[in-house]
Amino acid sequence: MTTPDFIIVAIDGGAASGKSSTAGVLSERFNLLHVDTGSFYRALTAEMLRRGVSPADPTAVGTAVAALQLGTRVTGRRAEMEIAGRVAGDEIRSKAVNDHVSLFAAIPGLRQALLAYQRGQTVVARRHGFRGLVMEGRDIGSVIFPDADFRFFLYADPAERARRRVAQGQLDTIHERDRIDSSRKASPLTCPPGATAIDSTHLTRDEVVARMAAPIAARLAAP
Ligand code: C5P
Repeated sequence: MTTPDFIIVAIDGGAASGKSSTAGVLSERFNLLHVDTGSFYRALTAEMLRRGVSPADPTAVGTAVAALQLGTRVTGRRAEMEIAGRVAGDEIRSKAVNDHVSLFAAIPGLRQALLAYQRGQTVVARRHGFRGLVMEGRDIGSVIFPDADFRFFLYADPAERARRRVAQGQLDTIHERDRIDSSRKASPLTCPPGATAIDSTHLTRDEVVARMAAPIAARLAAP
């Protein structure tokens, strides 16, 4: 087996399943660009709310999103979405965004507009000298990068996930978001065939990372 020059790690899972923290550690360990696609959906949701575009009008949403000028700013190891040159701040974690993001994310036109943008993060990662990227979300291993070198699906007991959000000081409707994300027609949240499923309920972050890092390290060490 030859050592790949660029690797793609896909991590999917529900809200508060541990995707961001594990992706952050993997990005450090293997020099990968960390792409949190939830933050992209959140930034677009904040923008639509600011413009007064309702998720009840999918055509208007599709038109508004398609007209946006999207860019990427790399801060440390993270990719942040720029809309007309501006990166959204803490507003993307606001209650209004938590309450609406799954409604906007269920709109096929919005997902379509994000497809090429998300795949284009490989270009951003290469340009900034990363060894690859670790992308987290709901449909990364199923739709965005079904051929990713590594595909993981994280899940955890609902009570444990709610506890984690409270510990992070966040008011979040994770069960309602998961319900909408799993039942929508466009790219629903699901463990894609062939992905490695990991139950993180009783595992520490480092234990989850260890399970993901082992096959990645083995691949990168291959002659
Ligand atoms: O990851 P996070 O919980 O911040 O994602 C916010 C929301 O964005 C999710 O609840 C989901 O509705 C949407 N999302 C998505 N597909 C992705 C990433 C996020 O639909 N790949």
